[in-house]
Amino acid sequence: MNLIFLGQQGAGKGTYAQYVQENYGFKQISTGDLLREEAKKETKLGKKIKETMNEGKLLEDEIVTEILEKRLMEKDMEKGFILDGYPRTLYQAKLLDEVMEKMNKRIHAVINFSVTDKTSIQRLSGRRQCSKCNKIYHLENLPPKKPGICDVCGGELFQREDDKPEAIKKRLDEYRKNTKPLIDYYKEKNLLIEIIADKHFTEVRPEIDKTLESIKQ
Ligand code: AMP
Repeated sequence: MNLIFLGQQGAGKGTYAQYVQENYGFKQISTGDLLREEAKKETKLGKKIKETMNEGKLLEDEIVTEILEKRLMEKDMEKGFILDGYPRTLYQAKLLDEVMEKMNKRIHAVINFSVTDKTSIQRLSGRRQCSKCNKIYHLENLPPKKPGICDVCGGELFQREDDKPEAIKKRLDEYRKNTKPLIDYYKEKNLLIEIIADKHFTEVRPEIDKTLESIKQ
């Protein structure tokens, strides 16, 4: 099954996508993670990506789509995928339609996780991520067993530069301006499912399970 997870920053898309990957086998594709990998490289493109991300701005549609397309062509996609953080603009949604057609694949459902800004800010400011395997934690809601260390791979946890207050505000503005219109885009295509995510992960999880069971493949 191929899914898109929509929702503003801090809605928990990454955490839910990791849950679905572990339990259903659909691969999480986080364009943010792919870009952070690219940003580690000391190339001109890597530097540009790092700068844009740290400021909380969106990268060019073509750059992100090219990186995504490359990832979609890898061999571990047979069971399906979850797009986490893509598309983020209407133009990206249209580019994705083209990529799907070219690859003879389709999106089965788009789940929109909705939260208030208050929840977003609380989640983003307490978020920590593993520098090796990308697993997401939260200092209060989902803490690791040993502070600063990933339970799964022992990697060191870090706080994202763009999870700091100035960048969070900019990212939420970007979301409202560019990404929110995608809700209507997918509603019109009859693909949209809404989940209210303003509650603890353990309460959102059963709703995700119920939703996935209801999606026709
Ligand atoms: P995320 O990890 O999804 O919160 O993404 C972190 C940052 O990566 C964003 O603030 C953007 O700078 C960049 N980014 C990730 N996905 C996209 C996308 N689909 N389009 C443009 N920029 C993106």
